[in-house]
Amino acid sequence: MAIEQTLSIIKPDAVEKNRIGDIYSRLEKVGLRIVGAKMMHLTRQQAERFYAIHRGRPYYKNLINFMTSGPVMIQVLEGENAIGHYRKLMGNTLPKEAAPGTIRRDFAFDPADPESHHNAVHGSDSAETARAEIDFFFRPDEILSRSDELCNIAG
Ligand code: ADP
Ligand code: MG
Repeated sequence: MAIEQTLSIIKPDAVEKNRIGDIYSRLEKVGLRIVGAKMMHLTRQQAERFYAIHRGRPYYKNLINFMTSGPVMIQVLEGENAIGHYRKLMGNTLPKEAAPGTIRRDFAFDPADPESHHNAVHGSDSAETARAEIDFFFRPDEILSRSDELCNIAG
C-alpha cells in the first residue's frame, strides 16, 4: 500500500468544544502523522472557494456559515493509505449516521440536536482532491514529510 497525504480540517464546532487534542490523538494512535498544521478563521471567500463543488446544494449556505463561524485547525496527514484510512476514522457525513467509535459520532453527535450537520471534521475524498485541497492551504515548504518514501519522490 502506498504512503499518501490527505487534508484534514477540525471544524469550528470541534475547535469550540476544545477537542483538537482528542482528535489528534485518534489520528496518531492509528499511525497517521501530522506533517503540516495551521489554525485559521476562514473568510467567506475562502470557504466558498474551498467548497465550490457544493455550490447550489440546499445546504451550501449553512455550510459556509458553519465553516466561517469560528477558527478551524487544518492539517496535512501522512501515512499508509491515509486518504481512505482517515475517511474511515471520520465516519459518515451526518453525525447521527456515523458509527460509534468514529470521530464524527464521538465528537459531533449531540442527542439534544440529533439532526445537526455540524460534523467536527473534513477529509479529502480522493488522491486528486487531496492534492488540490493541500495546495489550497499549504505552500510546499509548510509541509515536512516524515516518510522516506515521499521524501525520496520529492527529491
Ligand atoms: P464529506 O464531508 O463527508 O466528504 P460532503 O463532501 O458530501 O461530505 O459534504 C461536505 C460537507 O457539507 C459535509 O461535511 C457537511 O458539513 C456538509 N453537508 C453535506 N451534506 C449535507 C446535508 N445534507 N445537510 C447539511 N450539510 C451537509
Ligand atoms: Mg467531501
